[in-house]
Amino acid sequence: MESRRNFLHTLSASMLALSIPRHGFASAEEFFKQPYEGPVLRVAIMGLGSYGTRVAEAMQACKKAKLVGLISGTPSKLKNWQSKYNISVNNCYNYENFDRIKDNPEIDAVYVITPNALHHDQVIRVAKAGKHVICEKPMALNAKEGQEMIDACKKANVKLLVGYRMHFEPKTLEIIRMRKEGELGKIMFFQGLSGFKIGDPNQWRLNKQLAGGGSLMDIGIYAINGARYMVGEEPVWVTAQETKTNPEKFKEGVDETILVQLGFPGGAVASCLSSYNMSYLDRFFLTAEKGFAELQPSTGYGPIKGRTHKGELNHPHATHQTVQMEKMAGIILAGEPSLVPVDGEEGLKDLKIMDAIYLAVKTGKKINLKL
Ligand code: NAD
Repeated sequence: MESRRNFLHTLSASMLALSIPRHGFASAEEFFKQPYEGPVLRVAIMGLGSYGTRVAEAMQACKKAKLVGLISGTPSKLKNWQSKYNISVNNCYNYENFDRIKDNPEIDAVYVITPNALHHDQVIRVAKAGKHVICEKPMALNAKEGQEMIDACKKANVKLLVGYRMHFEPKTLEIIRMRKEGELGKIMFFQGLSGFKIGDPNQWRLNKQLAGGGSLMDIGIYAINGARYMVGEEPVWVTAQETKTNPEKFKEGVDETILVQLGFPGGAVASCLSSYNMSYLDRFFLTAEKGFAELQPSTGYGPIKGRTHKGELNHPHATHQTVQMEKMAGIILAGEPSLVPVDGEEGLKDLKIMDAIYLAVKTGKKINLKL
């Protein structure tokens, strides 16, 4: 694990690159040395699994976000986390009683980090308890569920954000800046390769009921979401094909590998590959009339590496989840903007595309999209 000093160094440098914060100090480094006295988002994590653990660790370095509550079905985990993160017993809940969070003024937001199929009901319950929600990707199993979550959060007047950590990653943002400022010219083609070889055949990710699908829901979503923020448009059609080499491990409804083609209104096309059975699959490539951009690795925990026709991207690495939570605190507490959106509508667009991909696989047809 990186030292706090290294962390602050890399974080502050990337904050500079992101033009965060607008604080009036000479450098972002100086900002991070100063005691912070502004508002802090007090967060409870729901689901103390492997990614919940990563988020909790990363949040320790945040200034604007603080872990103050826990929701888990495992009493021993609650106990360990309570002492590790100095969490009050009054801020600990289980899956049966967490609606009571409504009466807890010490918690502002809940970060839902449970298996995909649970997101819909859990987000709606958190919204009904009057707390802001951050929900892991995929936001839900399908667009219908996603829309219901958005509606519930609107009705409860709470914010809904989706854990798209790449939307704050400095090298990714630099490519988006170059595209927006015309340095790449007209975008012609995007390729997104997202996959890994999945292990334990008994995990929830390979259970259709809990995962809602297979590789596409879990890892292919990065290539789909990436196609949108790299091209900078919403796709208008999709075609897709599935291949399966191991039907024993990847049962009915759990996709092993899917190839996707997307068409964009400006004429650009994208080709995405999602797989649970291929290694070294983490690469984005964008080609345009005036240049190109490449990220490899493109969406792993980093460091992300990238180059364009102008040379290497040198923005320093910072722990993705720390930057994400710092920025999300700003979005929730102060309505700060995000260059690439991370709200429920953004999550819903990916769900609509993934619904269409599964339909395209099933029917063999080209599916038109209206996002
Ligand atoms: P995990 O299996 O490690 O953790 C899931 C947690 O949910 C566990 O603590 C488990 O006990 C709990 N849980 C509650 N009800 C459960 C049930 N009915 N069945 C199974 N577990 C239950 O999974 P994870 O890797 O932490 O993934 C959780 C979510 O986070 C998923 O939606 C995943 O897509 C997302 N995720 C996002 C990223 C990212 O980079 N943004 C990375 C990993 C995972």
